[in-house]
Amino acid sequence: MNSLPLPELMSADRQHVWHPYAAMPNNLPMFAVKSAQGVYLELEDGRQLVDGVSSWWTCIHGYNHPRLNQAAQEQMGKMAHVMFGGLTHQPAVQLAQKLVAMTPEPLQNVFFSDSGSVSVEVAMKLAVQYWHNRGEPKKHKFLTIRKGYHGDTFATMSVCDPVGGMHHLFGDRLVPQFFAEAPQIPFQGSWDDSDITSFEQLLIAHRDDIAAAIFEPIVQNAGGMRFYHPEYLRRAKQLCEEHGILLILDEIATGFGRSGELFACEHAGISPDIMCVGKALTGGFMSLAATLTTTHISETFAQGEAGVFMHGPTFMGNPLACAVALENLTLLESYDWQGTVKRIEAQLHRELEPCRALTAVKDVRVLGAIGVVELHEPVDMAIVQPRLVEQGVWLRPFGKLLYTMPPYIIQSKELSMITDGIYQVIASISRTQE
Ligand SMILES: *Cc1c(COP(=O)(O)O)cnc(C)c1O
Repeated sequence: MNSLPLPELMSADRQHVWHPYAAMPNNLPMFAVKSAQGVYLELEDGRQLVDGVSSWWTCIHGYNHPRLNQAAQEQMGKMAHVMFGGLTHQPAVQLAQKLVAMTPEPLQNVFFSDSGSVSVEVAMKLAVQYWHNRGEPKKHKFLTIRKGYHGDTFATMSVCDPVGGMHHLFGDRLVPQFFAEAPQIPFQGSWDDSDITSFEQLLIAHRDDIAAAIFEPIVQNAGGMRFYHPEYLRRAKQLCEEHGILLILDEIATGFGRSGELFACEHAGISPDIMCVGKALTGGFMSLAATLTTTHISETFAQGEAGVFMHGPTFMGNPLACAVALENLTLLESYDWQGTVKRIEAQLHRELEPCRALTAVKDVRVLGAIGVVELHEPVDMAIVQPRLVEQGVWLRPFGKLLYTMPPYIIQSKELSMITDGIYQVIASISRTQE
């Protein structure tokens, strides 16, 4: 592939290419990346940026990792892809074994798919079909909590925060679900039972219609970067069990150590009936996700009307992605990732806390390798993104939130560049607001 000259690249991009959550033509700043190495992105114009968002929380071990590259190359020499219907292979089976071993004990069966959204679709279909298998087809709705995010497809949108997810745009195309109030007590706050009242009331009132409760454990991510109390999760689990409702936990963002535990549900010492993982699964190498279930759920499918689970993506269990994911998880287990995340957490605490003194800042919060600064007003991306880039930092703020979820391999000096970039850019906004 020959390279286009930079001006031509940028104008063709504007003319033809749709970017995430963007207008066409895109009217916000855009930066072309030539290559990436470790925690750095190298732009086409030669500038180097420290990536503080791990390419949307995926590349926990940085870019161009020799071990991931080698795993991909070895697998490419054998087969990049083969269909999964009627065929199986080493990478998918060994990755399934690894996922079963890493996740809480009751999760035993793995359904591979190509993206987080699809893994949530699969979780929701599994829950609905489970009740159908058991002769209770009326249980097909979902109970979720506000401020959540589960993906961009229609079923996943129906359980995203109704305001943040702009439900009114899609009107009756979205299946109405049950929305409990978002938890208000923070991760380290003191627990009060009233926090879960709304969830409890909805669950009890509609238990005959609800297939499953679905939400993100401990950390609500793209819906607002909020950290809630582990007791909420314990109570939710109890309520689901008591009232015969499945629990789906979406660990796509939190899985593989990000919140300080391998999976965020471990903060509460509970396990779900169905769990979704994605994002960091391949270390940001390529797209892969998985939905895990208990045998209690999977066992019902043989006796159901369909006799099978009605889902099967074309690229299911892609060998290349599975081989890289297996190496990435092996790598994660090979060092003290928990100590590493703790060190990142301590430094984020130390270096983001001073932001609190800035007038534009409403709140500062840190959990694991997640640092969040919430502002009073929405961030103007047209101004903020180029300022961050000038400081050698890549971040992707949204709404009123500036946050970092850096790669675990980040050095203390590089992390300081990120926290300093956050501080400086907010300081510059605070000045203009005064
Ligand atoms: C990113 C994300 C998804 C969607 O994953 P995609 O790979 O973008 O489809 C779902 N749930 C959570 C919690 C996420 O963070």
